[in-house]
Amino acid sequence: MRRHHSYVSLLKCIVCGREYPAVDRLACDICGPVEGICDVLYDYEGVRRKMTKKALLSRPQDHWRYRELLPLHPDFPKNWDRSGCVNLRVGWTPICVTRRLGDYLGCGSLHIKDEGCNPTASFKDRASSVGVLKALEFGRSVIACASTGNAASSLAGFAAASGLPSRIFVPFHAPEPKLTQLLIYGAQVIRIRGSYEQAYDLCMQACARYGWYNRNCAVNCYLIEGKKTCGLEIGEQMADHPPDWVAVSVGDGCTIAGIWKGLKEMHLLGFLPRLPRLLGVQAEGAPAVARQFEKKEDDAFIPAPAATLADSICVSVPRNWRKAVRAVRESGGQFITVSDKAIIEALKYVPRLTGVFGEPAAVAAIAGIAAAREKGILGSNDMILAVVTGNGLKDVKTSSTAAGAPHDIEPTIEALEAVIMNRKTL
Ligand SMILES: *Cc1c(COP(=O)(O)O)cnc(C)c1O
Repeated sequence: MRRHHSYVSLLKCIVCGREYPAVDRLACDICGPVEGICDVLYDYEGVRRKMTKKALLSRPQDHWRYRELLPLHPDFPKNWDRSGCVNLRVGWTPICVTRRLGDYLGCGSLHIKDEGCNPTASFKDRASSVGVLKALEFGRSVIACASTGNAASSLAGFAAASGLPSRIFVPFHAPEPKLTQLLIYGAQVIRIRGSYEQAYDLCMQACARYGWYNRNCAVNCYLIEGKKTCGLEIGEQMADHPPDWVAVSVGDGCTIAGIWKGLKEMHLLGFLPRLPRLLGVQAEGAPAVARQFEKKEDDAFIPAPAATLADSICVSVPRNWRKAVRAVRESGGQFITVSDKAIIEALKYVPRLTGVFGEPAAVAAIAGIAAAREKGILGSNDMILAVVTGNGLKDVKTSSTAAGAPHDIEPTIEALEAVIMNRKTL
């Protein structure tokens, strides 16, 4: 039978459980746009018939291979060819075994999933690609978000690929390299004389008033569906040897919640024989979600001040703490926090031992593994997967403090020899 709609069955509020038809909606009417975030549910029986192991074998190696588990029309991607954004290769990022890093941290088996390989060099491309297609599907003529970081640069890239204008709200202190990445993709960058929180609020207001499509991941549950494709991939790529733990750095909480949803779906559909535990990693200076995890399920949420050099997880009011805390609880996992010093350390040893250069927020996941090994949360025989969420070239300023300096010499063999002979400097 030909389907005329996606496999999405309904949207369900994660607070009150009220159900809604899967249309152009952001949050639960009763619980409001801050608390009343929705979950996207599917007709899993329908998906099971179509998305078989055999069917997956013949599909392209990108995240669109899981199209039945995305909130998109089933004729996709044929109908969306006019959107150049399907040509950017998102997902199916490599999983590397990292024996030397594993030995260094005393882990029996350590793998890295390198999300820096995505088109704009971060995990966020998984969400932006879906966001742009939803905006086109709903006939919106502009897509917008508030962010100074990877969500913004990712959206700018995918909007550029599809020809959809993007408006991006940034706070006044937005760092130069990130502004450049936005502007070079042709995004209209609206710089607010104020904080990130004020930029976020103005963006929400503008979307409501002018009908722009809202890419802010926490409020728009379709975006998490893009993020979950990382979990779907882990489920397929590691089906034969599933990890015991998956370590993910946490800011707003959408990434870890999305990965958990993907893992659960692959388990439900019979691809993944058992579910891993999640290790949520936050910076000591921005620990709001980790603190909430220590409290009881119904305790009120308390934001925490945020200050860390890992800018992508520097969040004081995490917009998706509830989904993140639930995911880690459900998995039987743990949260851990790491100092900026430990993150800088990881910036030094991770690239040297693996060849994978992650940005500070990305290597924070590995600093978390080091800390969790020390505390005995992770055993020496556990098989661990770290999701490295963004490429290190995103933030060279912080990395350069960990990198050391070159040997400056005159262009002579004598000068070179002086450096080589001095073992201390080489
Ligand atoms: C956004 C981001 C995260 C955290 O994702 P949340 O959904 O905010 O928890 C981690 N690492 C990088 C590189 C990011 O860009």
